[in-house]
Amino acid sequence: MCPDTLADPSALDGERPEPLKPTREQAVDAVRLLLQWAGDDPGREGLLGTPERVVRAFEEHFAGYHVDPVALLQRTFEETDGYDEMVMLKDIRFESHCEHHMEPIIGRVHIAYLPCNRVIGISKLARLVDVFAKRLTIQEKMTAQIANTLDEVLQPKGVAVVIDAAHQCMTTRGVHKPGVSMQTSRMLGVFRTDPTTRREFLAMLNLPGLGVPGNV
Ligand SMILES: [Zn+2]
Repeated sequence: MCPDTLADPSALDGERPEPLKPTREQAVDAVRLLLQWAGDDPGREGLLGTPERVVRAFEEHFAGYHVDPVALLQRTFEETDGYDEMVMLKDIRFESHCEHHMEPIIGRVHIAYLPCNRVIGISKLARLVDVFAKRLTIQEKMTAQIANTLDEVLQPKGVAVVIDAAHQCMTTRGVHKPGVSMQTSRMLGVFRTDPTTRREFLAMLNLPGLGVPGNV
């Protein structure tokens, strides 16, 4: 078991108390306070509806907290007529928010797996990306979560996930470096142990840089 799992108290006793959820009204008030803190007047006409709109946007941006990723993938198909080649979904666009600055992370996810009797509907792969993207996260964690969930539910011969994304916390603030993108990958099973399978996947993605030993 990895140290992260052990460090999570809920993994040991399942009794971590639910954090108190503020009311919607309190959330609207909090946004109003931030507007005031930024130096504006939340009472002026243009800003009157803004706190309510921001709270609605939060509901959309962070809808992933209310979806169980494992339950989402529950329906798998076993009538594959022995299909045992790679299944790949490329260029799944996502929008997320970094947990350090709450700034947008915008990019693409590429997912592949080598099935072992079981496959999943491709729209489910796209929805799985959204479950983890619509939370506060970091790209590394999101990459691992997508790969680990697929591995757990499908129990395939291998899973590969690559994410390529731009982080607005570094393009529009902080170091201000536009045009920079970050690449992360997680390879499980044969994608990790078999260089030929990994190469085949990376060739399909056209990202040969990730094939360099030690870079995966
Ligand atoms: Zn950030």
